[in-house]
Amino acid sequence: MRVAVMTAPGEVRVEDRAEPVIVEPTDAIVRLAATCVCGSDLWPYRGVEALDGPRPMGHEYAGVVEEVGSAVTTVRPGQFVVGSFFASDNTCEICRSGYQSACVRREAAAPGGAQAERLRVPLADGTLVATPDAPTGDLVPSLLAASDVLGTGWFAAVAAAAGPGKTVAVVGDGAVGLLGVLAAKQLGAERIIAMSRHESRQKLALEFGATDIVVERGDAGVAAVKDLTGGLGAHSVIEAVGTQESMMQAINATRPGGHVGYVGVTHDVALPGLELFFSHVHLHGGPAPVRRFLPDLIDRIWTGQINPGRVFDLELPLDQAAAGYQAMDRREAIKVLLRP
Ligand SMILES: [Zn+2]
Repeated sequence: MRVAVMTAPGEVRVEDRAEPVIVEPTDAIVRLAATCVCGSDLWPYRGVEALDGPRPMGHEYAGVVEEVGSAVTTVRPGQFVVGSFFASDNTCEICRSGYQSACVRREAAAPGGAQAERLRVPLADGTLVATPDAPTGDLVPSLLAASDVLGTGWFAAVAAAAGPGKTVAVVGDGAVGLLGVLAAKQLGAERIIAMSRHESRQKLALEFGATDIVVERGDAGVAAVKDLTGGLGAHSVIEAVGTQESMMQAINATRPGGHVGYVGVTHDVALPGLELFFSHVHLHGGPAPVRRFLPDLIDRIWTGQINPGRVFDLELPLDQAAAGYQAMDRREAIKVLLRP
């Protein structure tokens, strides 16, 4: 089967690899309906994150179960499923508290890479959620988005305590930031400030529910958010980038007592203790427990309340994965959907 493999920074090839097989009785084999390139895939692509050899890529997936191990009871062949990038048992104490991405049995959900035709998913019972029926084609991009970017944006909004009466600012205009806007809107936020300097992304942010756009970043961005909030800062700030600048922008744009939900994978971020001490903000984030939100997100997609698949503005066959990486790296595409 075909799998996208990163062989060096800036180099992605689609190679033939062995078909996945059931290894553990808790595994499932899923035939992908669609997969995609993640903003976090750009870290090794840009050489910021080291590659320790050729790496099968991708961790976002939606598709049809083809085979299950003997111990799997909640999903069966023929069902359309969505899962998170981390496999979880969904039964341990940490899972039951809503932190499936820190499950005591956590492992990668796509060990062979999800930018592929097929995928072995471990801990299938705890990881995969079946849709009510076979989805129509137009729902597939949105269901795929639930696998990571929607679930992550949603967690960021929840971690930032977005809700009625709140002003939410969003740092980062990638797919996660934009879906953080959508999540804040769905959670009832009163005002949503999207921070973006790109016209196509601003447009999508407005479509998803943003009420204000701030084009400045860094200290100027913080000042602009304060200007819009009576000098106080936002109640809730979503951080969806992961750099020193974006993290400080998020913390400094939050009012005392407010909440920062950070979901951008951090790279070389160091928080200054004294500044943090006097900021009086709540910080919560990390790899999103997408599994917590999947049943609700699938329901909202299924019933047409949300259309997160709008973040995919380029669709390519899996064999052209390299072009997809290039488009995202150059910010010519927000998010690239790959068809196996
Ligand atoms: Zn668990």
